[in-house]
Amino acid sequence: MSTLHDLVNPATGQRLRTVASASAEQTDEAIARARQSFLEWREVSPADRARLLRRFAEAVDAHVEELAGLEVANSGHTIGNARWEAGNVRDVLAYYSATPERLFGRQIPVPGGVDVTFKEPLGVIGVIVPWNFPMPIAGWGFAPALAAGNTVVLKPAELTPLTAMRLGELALEAGLPEGVLTVVPGKGSVVGQRFVDNPQVRKICFTGSTEVGKQIMVGAAEQVKRITLELGGKSANIIFDDADLQRAAASAPYGVFDNAGQDCCARSRILVQRGVFDRFMELFEPAVKAVRVLDPAEESAEMGPLISAAHRERVSGYLDDTVEVAFRGSAPQGEGFWMPPTVVLPRDERDRVWREEIFGPVVAVLPFEDEADAVAKANDSDYGLSGSIWTRDVGRALRVARAVESGNLSVNSHSSVRYWTPFGGYKQSGLGRELGPDAPDAFTETKNVFIATDT
Ligand code: NAD
Repeated sequence: MSTLHDLVNPATGQRLRTVASASAEQTDEAIARARQSFLEWREVSPADRARLLRRFAEAVDAHVEELAGLEVANSGHTIGNARWEAGNVRDVLAYYSATPERLFGRQIPVPGGVDVTFKEPLGVIGVIVPWNFPMPIAGWGFAPALAAGNTVVLKPAELTPLTAMRLGELALEAGLPEGVLTVVPGKGSVVGQRFVDNPQVRKICFTGSTEVGKQIMVGAAEQVKRITLELGGKSANIIFDDADLQRAAASAPYGVFDNAGQDCCARSRILVQRGVFDRFMELFEPAVKAVRVLDPAEESAEMGPLISAAHRERVSGYLDDTVEVAFRGSAPQGEGFWMPPTVVLPRDERDRVWREEIFGPVVAVLPFEDEADAVAKANDSDYGLSGSIWTRDVGRALRVARAVESGNLSVNSHSSVRYWTPFGGYKQSGLGRELGPDAPDAFTETKNVFIATDT
């Protein structure tokens, strides 16, 4: 039996809608249907599978405004971001629609016969999505998985299921057969746990907290189930004294406060070379104060509310009396889970605000001495997801980019995610890579077949 739970609009605190959460039995039924559909989907010719994925991309494109509106209401994302996110699902589908005809194996020279490899689909893939980017993260899992011939069961986060549910309907409208992409809303401890425990699910593609990711890794070990993990981050924005300080300061708020800091790639640690520290802070303050924290449905909004009252409580908990606040931006008063962008000055690298993923609009700033010190401080973290390096010295940019233990670095910018380049974390930020040209391989097994030609 499914249970019902209420969704809340984070910008107003008002109830939005009630949705049904699947039970363990319903989850198993969805997995069984996905397994059945897999047997047919894997036989669909490459060109037809590609055509269906292109139609799915077109269906998403035709509904960008509707999907964006749902995300504004359910997740508090700014309308500009939400449109980008829906467009990202379209683009990721279009990109991987080129996969089916290009999923090549190899022919390897051997004596006495012919040796070929095949990239076989795995079967049913369980995609588990967090609440911070409900659309893109779903697409990064299901698009390459479907393209490689798998079927997908997708669990959105409890707080933000609406866009995933709509994407599931659009897949059917586009002509994907029943059971190829099934959205199963519900609790992590019920639906997510069944994905881990049910042996018909052959791989888990999980994005979420490092804590739950570790539990999934332990659970998956029981069946040697394949996993991809995209977990937390505490990324460094390193600003050298030869950088264009104006640009570095003007862009730093957007490197951390986008999506109200609820971004695994948020540059939530800023490291500034000591000689330019004070000047940077002078430039950074007006830039933070200029961030437009508004009703997310407003076209000019740059930051919206936090996802829930409980999450705002958790984030505010980091700002106790021991923490020195340098300055704050602004946020609407009243209903909704609002919090202003906040800049803090830790005493040293041992402070919680410097070490832990806060996942809200809080950034910590510390000085460093030289290149070696910058790299050492950046790497002094359990995480390694993204990061930025600001310098005009191209040699230094490359040396530091190679030395920072992190999966996604940008020089003189804060870009992390392009669907055609690989994305993922070092250390406790994850395992495996998503996106880019190789992502479909992560949803296949390599099979080697030898055919004797001797008579
Ligand atoms: P979370 O770990 O609480 O939940 C993520 C998903 O896992 C949800 O769908 C949840 O229902 C499910 N889940 C919870 N317990 C489960 C269990 N026992 N078995 C199976 N599934 C379970 O994370 P969250 O709070 O939704 O998201 C925030 C976290 O996600 C942050 O740490 C953030 O850094 C991380 N994140 C990482 C990336 C990345 O690509 N590296 C991207 C976005 C978010």
